[in-house]
Amino acid sequence: MLTDYRNESYTKALTDVVNTYKPEILLLGATTLGRDLAGAVATTLLTGLTADCTELDVDSDNSLAATRPTFGGSLLCTIYTLNFRPQMATVRPRVMPMPERVQKPIGRVVEHQLGMVEADIVTKVLAFVPDRDKATSNLAYADIVVAGGLGLGSLENFQLVRQLASVLGAEYGCSRPLVQKGWVSSDRQIGQTGKTIRPKLYIAAGISGAIQHRVGVDGADMIVAINTDKNAPIFDFAHLALVTDAVRLLPALTEAFRKRLSPHTRDRIAS
Ligand SMILES: Cc1cc2nc3c(=O)[nH]c(=O)nc-3n(C[C@H](O)[C@H](O)[C@H](O)COP(=O)(O)OP(=O)(O)OC[C@H]3O[C@@H](n4cnc5c(N)ncnc54)[C@H](O)[C@@H]3O)c2cc1C
Repeated sequence: MLTDYRNESYTKALTDVVNTYKPEILLLGATTLGRDLAGAVATTLLTGLTADCTELDVDSDNSLAATRPTFGGSLLCTIYTLNFRPQMATVRPRVMPMPERVQKPIGRVVEHQLGMVEADIVTKVLAFVPDRDKATSNLAYADIVVAGGLGLGSLENFQLVRQLASVLGAEYGCSRPLVQKGWVSSDRQIGQTGKTIRPKLYIAAGISGAIQHRVGVDGADMIVAINTDKNAPIFDFAHLALVTDAVRLLPALTEAFRKRLSPHTRDRIAS
């Protein structure tokens, strides 16, 4: 019954588990599935849900302090669920640093028998039809991301981003205006209303670095920005600033990496 995701069966199961064990706090990933499920479970349990959190803390009285961007990313607000339990939150994938591995974890796995019967679930999975768009992105989990912005000037010039990404074994992404222009699909948008990324290397070409873009890339280990304007906001948080024309630099970088990296090395960098 839980083999394929169905909102109804998963909501019933999770609600049952929560009602049995009565946790103070319930966390889910802000993935496509997690967002769908969390809203339904919170509604069924008549409790509050703070969605898309970027930071979590627990106060001394077990209150969950759930922090998320608001007002277009210009403010961070911390939300408490005061009168209802459990306190629910969804957290964007990869917004938090990976914790150190604990050799002997203290968490407990509880096996719980569900009393559901298939006949009670009205939604049925008839077939699984895979997405035919093979080019869908894996941005959130990529170690290297190359992205382009409006500064590239045309869809043709955006191909320079894709070529560099291909040579580096990287994923490619973009700022929001390129999605709005229809140059790039929305699953490759990086930022507050797009993907949050946490790569080892992020190369941003022709991107100004607006706050809504910045919140999506702040977790990158190394940010290299290419921009003609030395006062562009992206240089306030980039680790390496290249003040130059991206349309000229990108092909030169691609060529240089192509010469120096064998396919084997590229695989190693990206893994
Ligand atoms: C509610 C809301 C949500 C948003 N969510 C997102 C989001 O998720 N992601 C996102 O990206 N944006 C988002 N935005 C939009 C954001 O505010 C910016 O408008 C957007 O990020 C700007 O995109 P850009 O940097 O590509 O373009 P621009 O701001 O136009 O910047 C282009 C840059 O390219 C430089 N440039 C020009 N020519 C060249 C060249 N030849 N070589 C190198 N550099 C050059 C310019 O100096 C400039 O800095 C959101 C906005 C709102 C209001």
